[in-house]
Amino acid sequence: MTEIRNRLFIANEWTPARDGRTFETVDPSTEEVLAAVARGGPEDVDDAVSAAREAFEGPWRRVTPVERGRLLYRVARELEARLDEFARLETLDTGKPLAHARGEISGCVGYLDYYAGAADKIHGETIPLGPDYLNYTVREPVGVTAHIVPWNMPLSMVCRSLAPALAAGNTAVVKPAEQTPLTALKFAELFLDLGFPPSVYNVVPGFGEDAGRALSEHPGIDSITFTGSVETGRAILRAAAEHVRPVVLELGGKSPQIVFADTDLDLAASEVAKGIYSNTGQYCDAGSRLVVEEGVREPLLEKVIEHSRRIKLGAGLDDPDMGPLVSSEHLERVLGYIDTGQREGAEMLIGGRAEEPERGYFVSPTVFDGVESGMRVAREEIFGPVLCVMPFSHDEEAAEIANDTSYGLAAGIFTEDIDRALRFANDVEAGYVMINEYHTGGVGSPFGGFKQSGIGREKGLVALDNYTQIKTVVVRVR
Ligand code: NAD
Repeated sequence: MTEIRNRLFIANEWTPARDGRTFETVDPSTEEVLAAVARGGPEDVDDAVSAAREAFEGPWRRVTPVERGRLLYRVARELEARLDEFARLETLDTGKPLAHARGEISGCVGYLDYYAGAADKIHGETIPLGPDYLNYTVREPVGVTAHIVPWNMPLSMVCRSLAPALAAGNTAVVKPAEQTPLTALKFAELFLDLGFPPSVYNVVPGFGEDAGRALSEHPGIDSITFTGSVETGRAILRAAAEHVRPVVLELGGKSPQIVFADTDLDLAASEVAKGIYSNTGQYCDAGSRLVVEEGVREPLLEKVIEHSRRIKLGAGLDDPDMGPLVSSEHLERVLGYIDTGQREGAEMLIGGRAEEPERGYFVSPTVFDGVESGMRVAREEIFGPVLCVMPFSHDEEAAEIANDTSYGLAAGIFTEDIDRALRFANDVEAGYVMINEYHTGGVGSPFGGFKQSGIGREKGLVALDNYTQIKTVVVRVR
């Protein structure tokens, strides 16, 4: 079994928290404590930001873009070689099925490879001002970048923003979620082993209200990338306003999966089930509202229920179809929404708290029919395996229902009519639209939200803009 790293990682050293505090991280499949982890606070954040600043202004700055890319490729190869070790650790900390965790770690390798290749292609332009001037731009790194990540895809969310930040020449301080700190810490071993200058990657595990807040409010950081809830996103924006720092906010969603009557219902049912149940519904872009054309509501629901029934729950390491929710608090929250849905008058066709396994934070695949737009279960992000069914009778009504939310992260469209699909893709208020396949796309596909789902985009080359600032130089030629 892999060694669990349970200390802070600052300036290439494994250290306890300055005040010696620790917190426990729990395996949600068994409810057993995995480790007591150093609980970073403001002083530790201060140390990490100073270390990252020193690296940024010193040795990391002198590493050429080509060499930065090569270092990132080395991290990618090492992570690939140790994929199983990282996947098992991710599974233990999150409860997600092992095959799923492997997919995520392999996605991390994808981020590292993609941005490694971009490291020496981040260039400016020349602007034609006529023969008497030379005007060019340079894309400089912003400096010390802060990355505050959630628990649903722990290392994946780190790599998504870290890889472009480092490729562009920045250094980083990462604050993993308190529920799942282990893989971000283990990842530091790669930076120690592969010849990076010290302090390029620093990790301060801890709670949102102390380590997270201290990092987002720190005057020494130059940008914040935050992935998490809307509520915390607002706090991050306020903190960033104080020092006028750029932010990227990747927040929640209440994404519709819109099924038109002309679609292949077998395909749609399996995609709809995948869209809501993958990662136990704990995806920001989970397809949590099934907006279905009335004429096919019944046959589609039958098929979706059939998929739901077949889903095998179990401990992540046993590689079931669906693992537990991440924590007992989150289990209570999701069960609270299931109660609310019933009280609001929606009909639960299947689901609720799972009777088995006995240990662990398990909820069964849950489907609510008869959900109306005003209900809380239709408006609020549940972040669990709970699908809300909302029928429509014509295309305009489908768009109204799909857009009747404060979120705008993703949308799925299922139809055999390409014109209809493209028209609907225009009409839907979402930053990421998927036609005839849910949870699809690649590292190069920019991702982010409209409306309250966020600000900015990650993935793709466009994400490099988050970690560079343009310097314009104008020369008078005499
Ligand atoms: P959260 O907002 O509670 O926590 C996210 C991170 O912020 C954690 O590391 C936490 O410790 C930290 N934090 C909490 N309070 C803070 C504060 N006051 N200042 C600074 N940091 C603070 O979110 P969560 O429950 O961990 O994650 C679930 C949410 O994340 C969902 O809403 C989900 O949709 C969203 N999410 C979005 C994306 C995306 O790409 N858009 C991806 C994954 C998850």
